[in-house]
Amino acid sequence: MSMRDVERAAVIVYHSSPLHEPGSGDAGGMTVYVRAVAVALANLGMTTDIFTRATSEIPRVVELYPGVRVIPIEAGPLGPIAKEVQRRHIPEFVAGIRTFAMSEHHSYDVVHSHYWQSGVAAMELARAWDVPHIHSHHTLGRVKNSNLAEGDFPEPQSRLDGEDDVIRKADVLIASTDDEWRQLACLYLADHDKLKTIHPGVDRSLFHPGDQAAARASLGLGDEAVLLYVGRIQKLKGIDLALRAFSELDSALEKDVRFVIVGGASGAGGEGELTRLQDLAAELGIASKVRFEGPQPHENLPTYYQAADAVVVCSHSESFGLAALEAHACGTPVVGTPVGGLSYIVADGASGFLSESRDPTEFAGRLKTLLSDAELRASFGARAAERAARFSWATTAYEFHELYECLVREDLPQPCTC
Ligand code: UDP
Repeated sequence: MSMRDVERAAVIVYHSSPLHEPGSGDAGGMTVYVRAVAVALANLGMTTDIFTRATSEIPRVVELYPGVRVIPIEAGPLGPIAKEVQRRHIPEFVAGIRTFAMSEHHSYDVVHSHYWQSGVAAMELARAWDVPHIHSHHTLGRVKNSNLAEGDFPEPQSRLDGEDDVIRKADVLIASTDDEWRQLACLYLADHDKLKTIHPGVDRSLFHPGDQAAARASLGLGDEAVLLYVGRIQKLKGIDLALRAFSELDSALEKDVRFVIVGGASGAGGEGELTRLQDLAAELGIASKVRFEGPQPHENLPTYYQAADAVVVCSHSESFGLAALEAHACGTPVVGTPVGGLSYIVADGASGFLSESRDPTEFAGRLKTLLSDAELRASFGARAAERAARFSWATTAYEFHELYECLVREDLPQPCTC
């Protein structure tokens, strides 16, 4: 390939439009990630076209930010479709993208795909356009399956096979953490030379410490101890553990407590999980102290994080865990399991507590330590904000840009991934 600057990226997000509000259904951390990286790349002078499967009746191109377009491609029914049948429309999706690019006389310098189905589409595009293919997994089927919550459904073989294919054929595989790097190397036997770790970021102009009393007043909360969960409602997130720990805390703390749960149902079992959690809260006798807020606009979340004394993350597995990073950016301690990026984000015993144990009593003990000691909370909060300051989308985008440039310059990915 010739020496030239990377100017234009095709980003593939087949199953989940970046225009959907994160917090329920298929829209979550990946949505926030794709938007934020595209905007930060645009600030570096790059143009990004984000291709997604069209789900609305009148698919139209939307400019998300100067230099960032979301382009819906008709492939299958114009509406949501079950995960199991999504793969069958990938060939139409690929053909639609190629037609769009031809009609606009565009060529792309790189193709970057997010989640395995997009990876399958991007393999075809990268081959047709003879450009490098970069793939980000966001979650891995084998990791999910080896950490399944009780009663949760395993990821199907078709996904595991699709992931294997993408891992073999993509030029570079992005890991969000060194743990994900190892999972790709050990569980998927990915070629080490293809693996590169790039951490996600956080928007600290949105997520920053603020006036806790004002935040609480705007949410109808007073001076009780406030625990917060932010994320989609699905078994994987292990919110039942947080509820059980909260019920022990409720009787152990001298002050009144509230547990605020922000987010909506996601995936096939999402609605069932939400009902199960509401029933569990009633069974534990804490229903009046638990507020299920439903999904909230991303821009409103700083108020929730600022209002909380602690954020809980009890997931069985995570790729990274943006909610924990956003909480820390708002100066809020996190109590959680050491999944995904949590061990990078949280300093155990200094900005929060991390515990392998899923024992509600142990969890409640850590929460009690934090919620009954205002001085400790303040010191954890200050450390939390410091920890979050190490992450920014501008840095993430800069690293991607460097990677893209290297890939376009070199014939082999190896020099670009070390
Ligand atoms: N989120 C949101 N509104 C909600 C719930 C969540 O905007 O009601 C956002 C949250 O701010 C975070 C993302 O959804 O950026 C969740 O990302 P995380 O990595 O924690 O979990 P994932 O969705 O990737 O499983």
